[in-house]
Amino acid sequence: MPTDFTHNILLTPGPITTTRATKEAMLVDLSPNAEEIVGMTATARRYLLEIANGTATHECVPLQGSATYACEALFHACTAPGAKVLVIVNGFYGLRLGEILEAIGRRVVKLEKPILPLPTGAEVGAALDADPEITHVAICHVETGTGVLNRIEEIAKAARARGRNIFVDTVASFGAFPLDVAALDVEAVAISPNKCMEGLPGIGFAIIRKDSLIAAEGKSPSISLDLFKQWSFMESSKGQWRFTPPTHVVAAFANAVARHKAEGGREARLEKYRRNWKRLVDAMRQNGFRTMLPDEVSAPIVTTWLDPADPAYNFPAFYEAMRRRGFTIFPGRLTAAGTFRIGCMGDVDPETMAAVARAVAESMDEIGVKHRGPAADRTLATA
Ligand SMILES: *Cc1c(COP(=O)(O)O)cnc(C)c1O
Repeated sequence: MPTDFTHNILLTPGPITTTRATKEAMLVDLSPNAEEIVGMTATARRYLLEIANGTATHECVPLQGSATYACEALFHACTAPGAKVLVIVNGFYGLRLGEILEAIGRRVVKLEKPILPLPTGAEVGAALDADPEITHVAICHVETGTGVLNRIEEIAKAARARGRNIFVDTVASFGAFPLDVAALDVEAVAISPNKCMEGLPGIGFAIIRKDSLIAAEGKSPSISLDLFKQWSFMESSKGQWRFTPPTHVVAAFANAVARHKAEGGREARLEKYRRNWKRLVDAMRQNGFRTMLPDEVSAPIVTTWLDPADPAYNFPAFYEAMRRRGFTIFPGRLTAAGTFRIGCMGDVDPETMAAVARAVAESMDEIGVKHRGPAADRTLATA
């Protein structure tokens, strides 16, 4: 049976299902220097700063590539060679932050935590007090690898109280979860267009404190990941990109930005995901499935399910059965092994999520899984 790509719903933790209008915004060929591209880029940068409350204190710099490119460029800009960074690791993406820092020659001290309890300001404070050489703290906001929402407010307070800078990977959370870079005095955050902002992949955004951006001049050993140059070129060329941008992706993002605003902004986006998440979680639990996390610590953009104990269960067969029903889901990762994940982000609504739960039940029947609950010795991670 051929896949009907127009009906494939992506339930991965990004990229996600986008609206037809967002995809159709790409059906025009524009020069990178066209007024439209320049205007759309400027509007997007302004809007992202507004969401983060960084208009007065920070700059927003777009970069070709994915969000990881923005993270790497930010680390070049904000930290010096040999600098020591405390990385909070409570999932796959925390590990990734450490990997990027080590690759560019920074010293990494890991605060390694199990999935729960969540890392606290007190723990971060103690780690910083124990090592005065540490200049920066890096943490994920939503750790998509497990689905937890980290308490960045208390972590940022602990870091700033000790004069250390804080970097937050807001790649998965930006556009839906509260973030005030001015109040928390966050040095920098990295943003994806293709998660809660519901645009298409191909660019990343960095929000960085103005003084840090200015101080980054001449520091990056990379030509393409030089955030200062990317910004200063854009400033001095009336908003043009320094190297060829993915113009179609920029146009799609402009459409996604306009829609985000028209639908009620960040708060409305989070409410939409909460409704999606609740419908999916209620329906799946009724069918016998169990989440890995208690609800209080779950970010309502991705659900993590314990594998059914039934010996007939295997992820590849389940994935295939779901894909044939038009839904793409995601395996668990590292720290969340023995789970599967279903996202709630994107242009999907509670009706879609009810259909997903039905497709899960049908797929399990198809592959012969009768007992949907986890093995008795696998309990919920506890707070
Ligand atoms: C998706 C994601 C990333 C990586 O984004 P890419 O677009 O693949 O570079 C980083 N951090 C978190 C928390 C994510 O969810």
